[in-house]
Amino acid sequence: MTIGWLIVWLISLGILSLVAIMLWHRLLVLRREVRHLLADRPLTYEVPGPRIVREIHADLKEIARREGEIARQFADEDFSLRAILASMVEGVLIADGNLQIRLVNERLQQMFSLPKSPMDRTVMEVFRNHLVHQVIRQSLNTGEPQSAELQAEIRDGDQFQLKHFQITSVRLRPRELESMNRALVIFHDVSQIRSLEAVRKEFVANVSHELRTPLSIITGYLETLIDGDGDQETNLRFLRTMHKHAERLNLLIEDLLSLSQLESRKISLRFEPIDLSESIHRVLEQLDSRVRESGAGVTVTIPKHLPLIEADAFRIEQALYNLLDNALKHSAKSGAKVSVDACSDATAVVVRICDDGVGIPLSDQPHIFERFYRVHKDRSRDAGGTGLGLSIVKHTVQAHGGSVAVQSSPGAGATFVMSLPVRQS
Ligand code: ADP
Repeated sequence: MTIGWLIVWLISLGILSLVAIMLWHRLLVLRREVRHLLADRPLTYEVPGPRIVREIHADLKEIARREGEIARQFADEDFSLRAILASMVEGVLIADGNLQIRLVNERLQQMFSLPKSPMDRTVMEVFRNHLVHQVIRQSLNTGEPQSAELQAEIRDGDQFQLKHFQITSVRLRPRELESMNRALVIFHDVSQIRSLEAVRKEFVANVSHELRTPLSIITGYLETLIDGDGDQETNLRFLRTMHKHAERLNLLIEDLLSLSQLESRKISLRFEPIDLSESIHRVLEQLDSRVRESGAGVTVTIPKHLPLIEADAFRIEQALYNLLDNALKHSAKSGAKVSVDACSDATAVVVRICDDGVGIPLSDQPHIFERFYRVHKDRSRDAGGTGLGLSIVKHTVQAHGGSVAVQSSPGAGATFVMSLPVRQS
């Protein structure tokens, strides 16, 4: 009886040990699978064994599948975020509650020429600007979006450039993350807009000034004429003066129209083969009475066969007229000496218009092709100049693919050199 029980007990013990060993083995397999899961390695397709082990393994596989899905989603979002940030023309920055930088895009680094990564440094450390600090701090404190315009000297190679930035800071606090306090800051470079605004303001101020002078003279004379106190001779003199100023207004408006058409490239130039020597002679004919009145001497030296250029005859003659008109206008004495010569090589026809007038100081030479820039203000106005002639010349020549330059020193006259490309046959 005792031996029989002993045998049964031993057999049971053996069976239990066998089951324990099998379970131990399955647990080892499961542990290996958990480690695979932690190391992001694929799980074994099937684990044989009792149902409970198979169910745990199936759950592990489901966890692995969900984890993979979340990782893919993260990767997708990360890629999209990086792509959006990299393609933005605005600079983007995210700062935390301590105003420490947590994210920036490349554009921001370029905008401010930041030498090293601004990550994990404070806004003050990176920008050294109270306004940026203040705008972000206020948006974080109040929860309201804050904007400001920032002016900063930005290093560009060896030089510094004044830039204008519009900055907007918005607090980021998603509903599910109440404790998070971060600010998203957008930097928009508005330097070009500001400089265009400045040019426009200056242009409007210049035009108003140019229009006001002749208009106030005309109005003044008209009031005197209306009073009717003057004799016929005085009245006629007044009318002549008014006529002269009305013509000046007319000229100014014509020049403004030409310039605005050339600048906006709205005009389509009527290109045709042109012999520049013919254009020069036509312009000299138009100026003939002026030349004779002033007692000026004009010499023309043009080789017989000048290559043709491809140009708009009207515009080129307008440019030549302006240069020759200036050469006559800015002579210091009556009987000015003006020379026009032309030469060519395989690529360009070069026209030189040279006078012995007052000349142009070196410091003014870089500016004389700008609108309304005058070196000799009174001389120009007295001679009916609009201050737009050389600007028209520059735009015309550039529209033809050529160039214009000045060589001069005060008291020793001026030479304008205009170069236009030869017509390619
Ligand atoms: P303006 O109608 O006043 O002549 P421009 O644009 O033609 O305007 O010329 C700009 C300025 O450049 C002139 O006001 C004048 O001071 C200077 N300038 C142009 N041409 C000459 C020249 N040949 N000699 C001396 N100064 C010149």
